[in-house]
Amino acid sequence: MILYGVQFKNISTYEIKDCFSCVECGQTTHHLHIYQRVAHIYHIPFFPLGRICELQCAHCKAVTEHKAIFSKDLEQTKNAQELSNELKALKKTPRTPWTCYIGLAIVLAIGSIWGGYSYHNSLLVQEYLNQPKASKMLIVKLPGKEFSQYPYTFAYIDSIEEEKMMVYFGRISSTHQSNSSKDAKLALEEFKKGDYHRFEDPILVASDWLNDVQLMEIINK
Ligand SMILES: [Zn+2]
Repeated sequence: MILYGVQFKNISTYEIKDCFSCVECGQTTHHLHIYQRVAHIYHIPFFPLGRICELQCAHCKAVTEHKAIFSKDLEQTKNAQELSNELKALKKTPRTPWTCYIGLAIVLAIGSIWGGYSYHNSLLVQEYLNQPKASKMLIVKLPGKEFSQYPYTFAYIDSIEEEKMMVYFGRISSTHQSNSSKDAKLALEEFKKGDYHRFEDPILVASDWLNDVQLMEIINK
């Protein structure tokens, strides 16, 4: 399986009259095919590299490859230098198709969506820390060495009274926040149905315990 490599895309073809005489049939009209080299990963084009071109006889289809075009000592019907310059100019003419950047565009789009999401979440977290509310499911990162293997857990804020909160902590914790997040959403569904099996018995904590743990995400915003 090819994970990454180079693709060749035919981006333009020009007819060249009075080119060199074809070595096979002697005709002087050729087609100049211009190929864009594109770096790909899993066949998704990421970004363009250089270009190559080849000349194909319009009559017998014999092909003169890129290297030979600019170095071949052929019988010229045109001035060799003039032809070489014309071909070089044509090679630069076509615009690079946007499809050569699809992979890069996807990566940038995901990056900006994720960046926007993270920023939005950090605002919500800050707002919540200033004014905690009951009936919220949270993902928290627990401090201390004893939790270093499973630092993420979810917590359900059952009630808030003055400086105290009643909190159900999740039984399942995970090293991965994403797993925790999934667990938390599942747990919330079960919690709504009155199924508390994913939770420890509720614990009374001081409302400033949120300052001791790291609040990662608020699930039911
Ligand atoms: Zn030919």
